[in-house]
Amino acid sequence: MLVVMQQDAGSEEIQRVVGVIEEMGYQARPIPGEQRMAIGVVGNDGPVDSSRVEGLPGVQEVISVSAPYKLVSREWRKEDTVIPLFNGTLIGGPNTVVMAGPCGVESEAQLMETAEAVAKAGATILRGGAFKPRTSPYSYQGMGVEGLKLLAKARELFGLAVITEAIDLESLDAVEEYADIIQIGARNMQNFSLLKRAGRARKPVMLKRGLSATLKEWLLAAEYILAEGNEQVILCERGVRSFETYTRNMVDINAIPVIKQLSHLPIVADPSHGTGRRELVVPIARAAVAAGADGIMVEVHRDPTQAKSDGPQSLYPEQFRTMMSELERISLAMGKPLLAGV
Ligand code: PEP
Ligand code: MN
Repeated sequence: MLVVMQQDAGSEEIQRVVGVIEEMGYQARPIPGEQRMAIGVVGNDGPVDSSRVEGLPGVQEVISVSAPYKLVSREWRKEDTVIPLFNGTLIGGPNTVVMAGPCGVESEAQLMETAEAVAKAGATILRGGAFKPRTSPYSYQGMGVEGLKLLAKARELFGLAVITEAIDLESLDAVEEYADIIQIGARNMQNFSLLKRAGRARKPVMLKRGLSATLKEWLLAAEYILAEGNEQVILCERGVRSFETYTRNMVDINAIPVIKQLSHLPIVADPSHGTGRRELVVPIARAAVAAGADGIMVEVHRDPTQAKSDGPQSLYPEQFRTMMSELERISLAMGKPLLAGV
Protein backbone atom coordinates (compact mmCIF):
# COMPACT_ATOMS: atom_id res chain seq x y z
CA MET A 1 0.00 0.00 0.00
CA LEU A 2 1.16 3.48 -0.85
CA VAL A 3 -0.32 6.55 0.86
CA VAL A 4 -0.03 9.66 -1.32
CA MET A 5 -0.15 12.88 0.70
CA GLN A 6 -1.64 16.16 -0.49
CA GLN A 7 0.86 18.65 -1.86
CA ASP A 8 0.47 20.97 1.12
CA ALA A 9 0.52 18.24 3.78
CA GLY A 10 2.69 19.26 6.73
CA SER A 11 5.06 17.20 8.83
CA GLU A 12 2.45 16.73 11.58
CA GLU A 13 0.03 15.15 9.13
CA ILE A 14 2.79 12.95 7.73
CA GLN A 15 3.79 11.87 11.25
CA ARG A 16 0.20 10.99 12.07
CA VAL A 17 -0.06 8.71 9.02
CA VAL A 18 3.28 7.08 9.94
CA GLY A 19 2.01 6.56 13.49
CA VAL A 20 -1.22 4.90 12.37
CA ILE A 21 0.66 2.59 9.97
CA GLU A 22 3.00 1.56 12.79
CA GLU A 23 0.06 1.02 15.17
CA MET A 24 -1.33 -1.38 12.56
CA GLY A 25 1.89 -3.39 12.91
CA TYR A 26 3.59 -2.38 9.66
CA GLN A 27 6.61 -0.24 8.77
CA ALA A 28 6.17 3.16 7.17
CA ARG A 29 8.65 4.36 4.53
CA PRO A 30 8.32 8.05 3.64
CA ILE A 31 9.17 8.59 -0.04
CA PRO A 32 9.73 12.27 -0.82
CA GLY A 33 8.70 13.15 -4.38
CA GLU A 34 9.10 16.23 -6.54
CA GLN A 35 5.45 17.18 -6.14
CA ARG A 36 4.39 15.53 -2.93
CA MET A 37 5.30 13.07 -0.22
CA ALA A 38 4.19 9.45 -0.36
CA ILE A 39 4.37 6.96 2.47
CA GLY A 40 4.89 3.32 1.65
CA VAL A 41 3.68 0.49 3.84
CA VAL A 42 5.89 -2.59 4.10
CA GLY A 43 5.94 -5.62 6.32
CA ASN A 44 2.61 -7.01 5.15
CA ASP A 45 2.25 -10.32 3.38
CA GLY A 46 -1.30 -9.76 2.14
CA PRO A 47 -3.85 -6.99 1.68
CA VAL A 48 -3.79 -4.10 4.16
CA ASP A 49 -7.03 -2.55 5.41
CA SER A 50 -6.62 1.01 4.14
CA SER A 51 -9.72 2.45 5.82
CA ARG A 52 -7.81 3.70 8.88
CA VAL A 53 -5.51 5.92 6.81
CA GLU A 54 -7.90 6.98 4.06
CA GLY A 55 -9.72 9.51 6.19
CA LEU A 56 -6.70 11.05 7.92
CA PRO A 57 -5.97 14.75 7.32
CA GLY A 58 -3.52 15.44 4.50
CA VAL A 59 -4.09 12.11 2.75
CA GLN A 60 -4.86 12.47 -0.95
CA GLU A 61 -5.20 8.83 -1.99
CA VAL A 62 -4.27 5.31 -1.05
CA ILE A 63 -2.89 3.08 -3.82
CA SER A 64 -2.76 -0.64 -3.27
CA VAL A 65 0.42 -2.34 -4.50
CA SER A 66 -0.80 -5.60 -5.90
CA ALA A 67 2.57 -7.32 -6.50
CA PRO A 68 4.15 -9.38 -3.68
CA TYR A 69 7.29 -7.29 -4.07
CA LYS A 70 6.75 -3.67 -3.05
CA LEU A 71 9.88 -1.52 -2.96
CA VAL A 72 11.14 -2.77 -6.33
CA SER A 73 7.80 -2.33 -8.08
CA ARG A 74 6.85 0.31 -10.60
CA GLU A 75 3.66 0.89 -8.62
CA TRP A 76 5.81 1.98 -5.71
CA ARG A 77 8.11 4.22 -7.70
CA LYS A 78 7.20 5.50 -11.14
CA GLU A 79 10.53 7.08 -12.02
CA ASP A 80 13.46 4.92 -13.09
CA THR A 81 16.13 4.33 -10.46
CA VAL A 82 19.41 5.84 -11.63
CA ILE A 83 22.67 4.71 -10.06
CA PRO A 84 25.59 7.15 -10.27
CA LEU A 85 29.21 5.96 -10.15
CA PHE A 86 32.32 7.98 -9.30
CA ASN A 87 33.43 8.27 -12.95
CA GLY A 88 30.22 9.87 -14.18
CA THR A 89 28.54 6.66 -15.34
CA LEU A 90 24.81 6.62 -14.65
CA ILE A 91 23.23 3.17 -14.69
CA GLY A 92 19.56 3.34 -15.62
CA GLY A 93 19.99 6.92 -16.85
CA PRO A 94 19.94 8.45 -20.34
CA ASN A 95 22.82 6.32 -21.69
CA THR A 96 23.47 2.67 -22.41
CA VAL A 97 26.43 1.53 -20.28
CA VAL A 98 28.93 -1.24 -20.90
CA MET A 99 30.66 -3.39 -18.27
CA ALA A 100 33.48 -5.48 -19.68
CA GLY A 101 36.50 -7.48 -18.61
CA PRO A 102 37.67 -10.99 -17.97
CA CYS A 103 35.57 -13.66 -16.30
CA GLY A 104 38.22 -13.92 -13.61
CA VAL A 105 41.19 -11.85 -12.53
CA GLU A 106 44.19 -14.09 -13.25
CA SER A 107 47.30 -11.90 -13.08
CA GLU A 108 48.29 -8.25 -13.11
CA ALA A 109 49.31 -8.33 -16.78
CA GLN A 110 46.13 -10.14 -17.86
CA LEU A 111 43.88 -7.68 -16.01
CA MET A 112 45.70 -4.48 -16.98
CA GLU A 113 45.96 -5.35 -20.66
CA THR A 114 42.32 -6.33 -20.84
CA ALA A 115 41.22 -3.28 -18.82
CA GLU A 116 43.17 -0.94 -21.08
CA ALA A 117 41.61 -2.49 -24.19
CA VAL A 118 38.03 -2.23 -22.91
CA ALA A 119 38.56 1.31 -21.60
CA LYS A 120 39.97 2.42 -24.96
CA ALA A 121 36.98 0.91 -26.74
CA GLY A 122 34.59 2.90 -24.51
CA ALA A 123 33.59 0.65 -21.59
CA THR A 124 33.23 2.61 -18.34
CA ILE A 125 32.93 -0.32 -15.93
CA LEU A 126 35.47 -3.11 -15.50
CA ARG A 127 34.28 -6.58 -14.56
CA GLY A 128 36.46 -9.39 -13.25
CA GLY A 129 35.83 -12.06 -10.64
CA ALA A 130 38.25 -12.32 -7.72
CA PHE A 131 36.05 -14.90 -5.98
CA LYS A 132 34.75 -17.38 -8.53
CA PRO A 133 31.68 -19.57 -7.89
CA ARG A 134 32.67 -22.66 -9.90
CA THR A 135 30.59 -25.75 -10.57
CA SER A 136 33.62 -27.95 -9.89
CA PRO A 137 35.79 -27.53 -6.79
CA TYR A 138 38.79 -28.34 -9.01
CA SER A 139 38.18 -25.39 -11.37
CA TYR A 140 39.90 -22.01 -10.97
CA GLN A 141 38.59 -20.36 -7.78
CA GLY A 142 39.99 -16.85 -8.28
CA MET A 143 42.74 -14.73 -6.70
CA GLY A 144 40.69 -13.54 -3.73
CA VAL A 145 41.70 -10.27 -2.08
CA GLU A 146 44.82 -10.04 -4.29
CA GLY A 147 42.44 -9.92 -7.26
CA LEU A 148 40.44 -7.14 -5.62
CA LYS A 149 43.63 -5.12 -5.17
CA LEU A 150 44.43 -5.51 -8.86
CA LEU A 151 40.93 -4.34 -9.77
CA ALA A 152 41.42 -1.27 -7.58
CA LYS A 153 44.72 -0.61 -9.34
CA ALA A 154 43.04 -0.86 -12.75
CA ARG A 155 40.46 1.67 -11.55
CA GLU A 156 43.26 4.10 -10.68
CA LEU A 157 45.04 3.57 -14.00
CA PHE A 158 42.08 3.65 -16.40
CA GLY A 159 39.28 5.51 -14.57
CA LEU A 160 36.98 2.51 -14.83
CA ALA A 161 34.43 1.75 -12.11
CA VAL A 162 34.80 -1.81 -10.83
CA ILE A 163 32.21 -4.57 -10.46
CA THR A 164 33.11 -7.91 -8.92
CA GLU A 165 31.29 -10.80 -7.32
CA ALA A 166 30.83 -11.59 -3.64
CA ILE A 167 30.14 -15.29 -3.11
CA ASP A 168 29.57 -15.33 0.65
CA LEU A 169 29.39 -13.06 3.69
CA GLU A 170 33.15 -12.95 4.15
CA SER A 171 33.94 -12.01 0.55
CA LEU A 172 31.15 -9.44 0.59
CA ASP A 173 33.00 -7.47 3.28
CA ALA A 174 36.11 -7.40 1.09
CA VAL A 175 34.24 -6.64 -2.14
CA GLU A 176 32.39 -3.79 -0.45
CA GLU A 177 35.73 -2.28 0.52
CA TYR A 178 37.39 -2.48 -2.91
CA ALA A 179 34.67 -2.42 -5.59
CA ASP A 180 32.22 0.17 -6.85
CA ILE A 181 29.45 -2.38 -7.48
CA ILE A 182 28.92 -5.66 -5.62
CA GLN A 183 27.82 -8.49 -7.90
CA ILE A 184 25.61 -11.27 -6.54
CA GLY A 185 25.84 -14.19 -8.93
CA ALA A 186 23.14 -16.41 -10.37
CA ARG A 187 23.96 -19.26 -7.98
CA ASN A 188 23.46 -16.99 -4.99
CA MET A 189 20.29 -15.25 -6.13
CA GLN A 190 18.33 -16.89 -3.34
CA ASN A 191 21.05 -16.85 -0.70
CA PHE A 192 18.89 -14.79 1.60
CA SER A 193 21.49 -14.06 4.27
CA LEU A 194 23.84 -12.78 1.53
CA LEU A 195 21.02 -10.66 0.09
CA LYS A 196 20.31 -9.15 3.51
CA ARG A 197 23.99 -8.34 3.98
CA ALA A 198 24.08 -6.75 0.51
CA GLY A 199 21.08 -4.69 1.60
CA ARG A 200 23.19 -3.23 4.40
CA ALA A 201 26.14 -2.47 2.11
CA ARG A 202 27.04 1.09 1.21
CA LYS A 203 27.69 0.20 -2.44
CA PRO A 204 25.32 -0.55 -5.34
CA VAL A 205 24.50 -4.21 -5.91
CA MET A 206 24.00 -6.03 -9.21
CA LEU A 207 21.76 -9.07 -8.76
CA LYS A 208 22.01 -11.69 -11.48
CA ARG A 209 18.99 -13.82 -12.29
CA GLY A 210 19.10 -17.32 -10.82
CA LEU A 211 19.71 -20.31 -13.08
CA SER A 212 16.02 -21.12 -13.27
CA ALA A 213 14.40 -18.26 -11.39
CA THR A 214 11.07 -16.81 -12.39
CA LEU A 215 10.83 -13.06 -12.73
CA LYS A 216 8.78 -13.00 -9.51
CA GLU A 217 11.45 -14.90 -7.58
CA TRP A 218 14.11 -12.60 -8.96
CA LEU A 219 12.22 -9.44 -8.02
CA LEU A 220 11.53 -10.84 -4.53
CA ALA A 221 15.25 -11.51 -4.17
CA ALA A 222 15.91 -7.86 -5.10
CA GLU A 223 13.22 -6.87 -2.58
CA TYR A 224 15.36 -8.42 0.18
CA ILE A 225 18.15 -5.95 -0.66
CA LEU A 226 15.86 -2.92 -0.79
CA ALA A 227 14.02 -3.99 2.36
CA GLU A 228 17.32 -3.73 4.26
CA GLY A 229 17.75 -0.16 3.05
CA ASN A 230 19.94 -0.40 -0.08
CA GLU A 231 17.96 1.02 -2.99
CA GLN A 232 20.89 0.94 -5.42
CA VAL A 233 20.12 -2.33 -7.14
CA ILE A 234 20.72 -3.33 -10.77
CA LEU A 235 19.18 -6.49 -12.23
CA CYS A 236 21.11 -8.62 -14.72
CA GLU A 237 19.51 -11.08 -17.14
CA ARG A 238 22.16 -13.74 -17.80
CA GLY A 239 20.10 -16.47 -19.40
CA VAL A 240 18.18 -19.32 -17.80
CA ARG A 241 18.33 -23.10 -18.02
CA SER A 242 16.40 -24.64 -20.86
CA PHE A 243 16.07 -27.90 -22.79
CA GLU A 244 18.54 -26.61 -25.39
CA THR A 245 22.13 -27.77 -25.07
CA TYR A 246 23.75 -25.98 -28.03
CA THR A 247 23.97 -22.78 -26.00
CA ARG A 248 24.98 -22.60 -22.33
CA ASN A 249 21.76 -20.85 -21.31
CA MET A 250 18.75 -19.30 -22.99
CA VAL A 251 18.71 -15.51 -22.87
CA ASP A 252 15.26 -14.38 -21.86
CA ILE A 253 14.89 -11.27 -23.99
CA ASN A 254 11.29 -11.05 -22.75
CA ALA A 255 12.62 -10.31 -19.30
CA ILE A 256 14.04 -6.95 -20.38
CA PRO A 257 10.79 -5.17 -21.30
CA VAL A 258 8.87 -7.10 -18.61
CA ILE A 259 11.25 -5.94 -15.87
CA LYS A 260 10.96 -2.40 -17.21
CA GLN A 261 7.18 -2.67 -16.79
CA LEU A 262 7.21 -4.29 -13.37
CA SER A 263 10.12 -2.48 -11.75
CA HIS A 264 11.91 0.86 -11.62
CA LEU A 265 15.31 -0.82 -11.25
CA PRO A 266 17.86 -0.73 -14.08
CA ILE A 267 18.33 -3.93 -16.06
CA VAL A 268 21.44 -5.03 -17.91
CA ALA A 269 22.00 -8.14 -20.02
CA ASP A 270 24.94 -10.56 -19.96
CA PRO A 271 25.14 -12.27 -23.36
CA SER A 272 28.40 -14.02 -22.39
CA HIS A 273 26.90 -16.33 -19.76
CA GLY A 274 23.62 -16.15 -21.64
CA THR A 275 25.02 -17.87 -24.72
CA GLY A 276 28.33 -19.46 -23.64
CA ARG A 277 29.61 -19.03 -27.20
CA ARG A 278 31.79 -16.17 -28.35
CA GLU A 279 30.25 -15.91 -31.82
CA LEU A 280 26.79 -15.35 -30.31
CA VAL A 281 27.73 -12.70 -27.79
CA VAL A 282 27.63 -9.71 -30.14
CA PRO A 283 24.28 -10.51 -31.84
CA ILE A 284 22.61 -11.06 -28.46
CA ALA A 285 24.17 -7.88 -27.06
CA ARG A 286 22.60 -6.04 -30.00
CA ALA A 287 19.23 -7.67 -29.32
CA ALA A 288 19.34 -6.76 -25.62
CA VAL A 289 20.03 -3.09 -26.36
CA ALA A 290 17.25 -3.10 -28.96
CA ALA A 291 14.92 -4.61 -26.33
CA GLY A 292 15.62 -1.69 -24.00
CA ALA A 293 18.40 -2.88 -21.69
CA ASP A 294 20.17 -0.16 -19.70
CA GLY A 295 23.50 -1.83 -20.28
CA ILE A 296 25.50 -4.85 -21.27
CA MET A 297 27.99 -6.94 -19.31
CA VAL A 298 30.43 -8.93 -21.44
CA GLU A 299 33.50 -11.04 -20.86
CA VAL A 300 36.62 -9.94 -22.73
CA HIS A 301 40.07 -11.52 -22.40
CA ARG A 302 43.36 -10.39 -23.93
CA ASP A 303 43.81 -14.02 -25.02
CA PRO A 304 40.69 -16.17 -24.52
CA THR A 305 42.59 -19.35 -25.45
CA GLN A 306 44.55 -18.90 -22.19
CA ALA A 307 41.61 -17.94 -19.95
CA LYS A 308 41.33 -19.89 -16.69
CA SER A 309 37.54 -19.65 -16.86
CA ASP A 310 34.93 -19.05 -19.56
CA GLY A 311 37.42 -18.72 -22.44
CA PRO A 312 34.93 -20.04 -25.06
CA GLN A 313 32.51 -17.18 -24.32
CA SER A 314 35.12 -14.44 -23.91
CA LEU A 315 35.50 -11.89 -26.70
CA TYR A 316 38.85 -10.98 -28.20
CA PRO A 317 39.53 -7.24 -27.72
CA GLU A 318 39.03 -6.76 -31.47
CA GLN A 319 35.55 -8.30 -31.31
CA PHE A 320 34.74 -6.08 -28.37
CA ARG A 321 35.63 -3.00 -30.41
CA THR A 322 33.31 -4.20 -33.18
CA MET A 323 30.55 -4.77 -30.64
CA MET A 324 30.95 -1.23 -29.31
CA SER A 325 30.63 0.33 -32.74
CA GLU A 326 27.53 -1.74 -33.47
CA LEU A 327 25.98 -0.91 -30.10
CA GLU A 328 26.72 2.74 -30.73
CA ARG A 329 24.34 2.72 -33.67
CA ILE A 330 21.63 0.61 -32.03
CA SER A 331 21.67 2.52 -28.76
CA LEU A 332 21.36 5.78 -30.68
CA ALA A 333 18.36 4.43 -32.55
CA MET A 334 16.85 3.45 -29.19
CA GLY A 335 17.30 7.00 -27.85
CA LYS A 336 19.80 5.81 -25.21
CA PRO A 337 23.21 6.55 -26.76
CA LEU A 338 26.17 4.53 -25.64
CA LEU A 339 28.20 6.14 -22.90
CA ALA A 340 31.58 5.91 -24.53
CA GLY A 341 34.35 6.75 -22.11
CA VAL A 342 34.08 9.17 -19.21
C1 PEP B 1 30.12 -14.12 -13.69
O1 PEP B 1 29.58 -13.06 -14.03
O2 PEP B 1 31.34 -14.30 -13.75
C2 PEP B 1 29.28 -15.25 -13.28
C3 PEP B 1 29.77 -16.26 -12.55
O3 PEP B 1 28.03 -15.16 -13.72
P1 PEP B 1 26.68 -15.95 -13.30
O4 PEP B 1 26.53 -15.75 -11.83
O5 PEP B 1 25.63 -15.25 -14.11
O6 PEP B 1 26.86 -17.38 -13.70
MN1 MN C 1 32.25 -16.11 -16.35
